Amino acid sequence: MRKKIVAGNWKMNNTLDEAVYLVEEIISKVKQSEVVKIIIPPFPFLESLNRKVGEVVSFHLGAQNCSSLPHGAYTGEVSAKMLHSVGCQYVLVGHSERRAYFNETNEDLVLKLREALAHQLKPIFCIGESLDQREGGFYFEVIKSQMAEVLSHFSASEFINIIIAYEPIWAIGTGLTATTQQAQEMHQYIRTEVASIFSEEIAQQTSILYGGSCNAKNAHDLFACKDVDGGLIGGASLNADDFCAITASF
Ligand code: PEP
Repeated sequence: MRKKIVAGNWKMNNTLDEAVYLVEEIISKVKQSEVVKIIIPPFPFLESLNRKVGEVVSFHLGAQNCSSLPHGAYTGEVSAKMLHSVGCQYVLVGHSERRAYFNETNEDLVLKLREALAHQLKPIFCIGESLDQREGGFYFEVIKSQMAEVLSHFSASEFINIIIAYEPIWAIGTGLTATTQQAQEMHQYIRTEVASIFSEEIAQQTSILYGGSCNAKNAHDLFACKDVDGGLIGGASLNADDFCAITASF
């Protein structure tokens, strides 16, 4: 049985006080369950929030990014080793906002995944097509190359620690969600690609999350899809009631 996972990507939102308040509210309201809940706040709040989520069963902490470099004179960078040292267990790699606004290439992502895995972080590797690519009808090819160009650099024993998040760019922060049919079709395709890069057995163990305007209203239908193992949630993760409702949507 694959794990059910809900991860909240807070992006660049909240002050420290607001972040602590939000996480306390989430912890007090959430229904106990086996669902893996990952809180992904901005870097400066990680250590304080680790003191909160580190104590609660099934809650974990993640970071929104890590450096492709191990250490040294790289002003402004945050290494995977540093993230591990403040209690992170997960890290987003290749979020479309980082690919688009910070020019992250597939080569960078290979290095970031290597750093994360070397420091016991479980990467959540994000892939997804743009609106033009969807409308042009070549979205499967886009996903295939995003996967092949990065994942083929890893062995099966490395890959089993990686979670995949399918996030169609046209659905992120837009209020446009993939239909259950679009989500299931792409998740099934991604699982087939994992099988062809690694093996069918590994594909069946891989958690594939959906992200893109997933909210308390649509999560239940999306999570009911056979190949959707949970969600990577942006906007709706900033509201405790919505985030808790999403974690209870399986
Ligand atoms: C995201 O940025 O990962 C995301 C899914 O955002 P939203 O839920 O706001 O579309």
